[in-house]
Amino acid sequence: MKFRRLRLTGFKSFVEPATLEIEEGLTGVVGPNGCGKSNLLEAMRWTMGESSPKSLRGGGMEDVIFAGTGRRASRDIAEVVLVLDNADRRAPAPFNDSAEIEVSRRIERGLGSLYRINGRDVRQKDVQLLFADAATGAHSPALVSQGRVGAIVNARPQDRRQLLEEAAGISGLHVRRREAEQRLSAAETNLARLSDLLSGLE
Ligand code: ATP
Repeated sequence: MKFRRLRLTGFKSFVEPATLEIEEGLTGVVGPNGCGKSNLLEAMRWTMGESSPKSLRGGGMEDVIFAGTGRRASRDIAEVVLVLDNADRRAPAPFNDSAEIEVSRRIERGLGSLYRINGRDVRQKDVQLLFADAATGAHSPALVSQGRVGAIVNARPQDRRQLLEEAAGISGLHVRRREAEQRLSAAETNLARLSDLLSGLE
């Protein structure tokens, strides 16, 4: 799955709406210290369902909203839209009927955050599964931030296995397996209850 475009509004230092076209091939972001390079990667991770404030270099989830500067007032809303190429229609149903997929996440102070795929409200899990099935995600090694290369070299074997599973596009299967096991166990509980009720009737 290819990223086509990133649109940010009110996210960290990107107070004004900004759009980045992501071209074919490897993309590098260069610029002076503090200009917002890492914020761009964090915007992508956040939209892909990153839920740990620490990995977004913040103390709380609302720290991603523009906090204001000496000259500009803070904002109450941050929104990031990530546009994905789906020309080959390989995205999982029901999102595979358009040539581009728009995944957005919006956070409002005091109200939490909302995810949308192609304008439809979805759960965080749906967004995470969409990216996991496409062999990418908030922790994908394809997003190389500062210190990441060293961290991969020094990673524990279990963590390295996770990277390989993600690259192979099978990490979504673990989530689905857990869900299926939970449904199975709920069905077994219902069956046991039913058989108790039936034996009470006999
Ligand atoms: P370096 O090359 O030094 O790593 P960088 O280009 O990666 O820098 P970032 O770390 O992405 O820069 O951006 C840091 C800037 O973002 C800082 O100026 C910081 O004040 C600003 N910033 C971070 N969070 C917010 C926020 N919530 N509101 C406003 N500005 C923010």
